[in-house]
Amino acid sequence: MVRATVLCFSGLDPSGGAGIQADIESIGQSGAHAAIACTALTIQNSQQVFGFEAASKQLLLAQANAVVKDLPIRCVKSGMLGTTENIAALAEFLAEHPDYQYVLDPVLVANSGGSLGNQATFVKAFAELIPLATVITPNTVELRALTGEDDLELATQKLFAMGAQAILVKGGHEDTPDYIRNALYIAGELVAESRCPRLAGEYHGSGCSLASFIAGRLAQGDALKTAVQHAETWLFGVLQQAESPVENGQKMPKRF
Ligand code: PLP
Repeated sequence: MVRATVLCFSGLDPSGGAGIQADIESIGQSGAHAAIACTALTIQNSQQVFGFEAASKQLLLAQANAVVKDLPIRCVKSGMLGTTENIAALAEFLAEHPDYQYVLDPVLVANSGGSLGNQATFVKAFAELIPLATVITPNTVELRALTGEDDLELATQKLFAMGAQAILVKGGHEDTPDYIRNALYIAGELVAESRCPRLAGEYHGSGCSLASFIAGRLAQGDALKTAVQHAETWLFGVLQQAESPVENGQKMPKRF
């Protein structure tokens, strides 16, 4: 019997730091099996995004439907979706599989700042996915963009008003020089907070890694709060060991 499986809707990052490779490595480290429906091929390195080509809606759904039939999928995880058509395709797919848990990493731009699609149209299209997610994992930039609210507490409550079930707010982009605070909310209530020392430098694929590890733990039966705690502890170790490919590049997480 194959291990509990997470089906990822994510893009290929040829540097191997983010996207599909981050998903496969993180889900593998969580103890689950990763299956992939590839949303896009990006052209990028640790410093810059040069462009991308998205899969068609038909190609994306054909990939996902092919593995539904023969793998024990317990959870879906999405990262870069590439086009609003692909966001709609994922919403359709999830509606057909209401028993799957779903981790929505609302990727709008790469950590290096490069475009991974049209941010304004994505924000609107994500409205369909938000109520379907077991947990949404925005950083504070994404949280503000999704809700149009600058104040983080108001933004979090607005995302609940948009139908969110649970939200992990990641504080890496906040101006806290010594630490990073993450906060997990379920049904509008703060249920857990974590603080870790802020590590020096920029990391490529840290968000993908965290969301995928959470999905892997959920697939294996963890409660959400436990899955998030496991994932945060694991990610901190992975980032401590991260390697710099070039002087100006973002660091590559060392996931195993
Ligand atoms: N997915 C792909 C294919 C990417 O290229 C990126 C960033 O470069 C992301 C997702 C998001 O990465 P991060 O985990 O750094 O937010």
